[in-house]
Amino acid sequence: MQKKLRMLEIFLASTNRHKAAEIEKFLEGVAKILIYDRYIPPEEKGKTFRENALIKALSLSTLLPGKLILGEDSGLVVPYLGGAPGVNSHRFSDTGSDIDNIKFLLEKMKSAHDEERRAYFVSYGVLVKDGKILWEGEGRVHGCIDYRIVGEGGFGYDPVFYYPPLKKTFAQLSRDEKNRVSHRGAMLRKLRSFLLDLKG
Ligand code: IMP
Repeated sequence: MQKKLRMLEIFLASTNRHKAAEIEKFLEGVAKILIYDRYIPPEEKGKTFRENALIKALSLSTLLPGKLILGEDSGLVVPYLGGAPGVNSHRFSDTGSDIDNIKFLLEKMKSAHDEERRAYFVSYGVLVKDGKILWEGEGRVHGCIDYRIVGEGGFGYDPVFYYPPLKKTFAQLSRDEKNRVSHRGAMLRKLRSFLLDLKG
């Protein structure tokens, strides 16, 4: 078989099949994204997105020798809040539910003026094989924290993440629109070009 036609197989260090499907869409024609059923996600104890992506990838790599493993970690960074929620994005409020996280964030931002509401999403990806890093990269998207919840789509902080170039929150964008500008999209486009080189 021609090398270029061969699909790479990459195991995602996650139990989230939606995330796997989303990532596979970006890597269409290049790689298949697989979930390992026996994977139990480790505690994300890292202080940076990179550390957490690596913790996830290395923990799965020990279970799957010889396989390509992708670890990904993402979150929202608000400089006005000293970088919070950052690596704690998924558990910012007491309950950790999306709506409680959003309300907690809006409460913390209630005295912030327009120029203090700048924020960005980060997605960090690490590709490893047998515990060795083959590639790593980051994607970011800049916007600001809205004063209220706007839009129905997306997940997480999308309803309060206002994206000035499109004059909408991420929750008002279609999935394709969001993929074109998102942090995860930016990271995955870099990974895609690395994988194309790897296939030769
Ligand atoms: P993890 O990368 O699966 O650990 O998720 C990190 C958390 O960051 C999510 O639970 C969301 O709260 C937030 N987050 C990451 N990416 C996005 C996004 O695209 N939109 C909204 N929230 C996001």
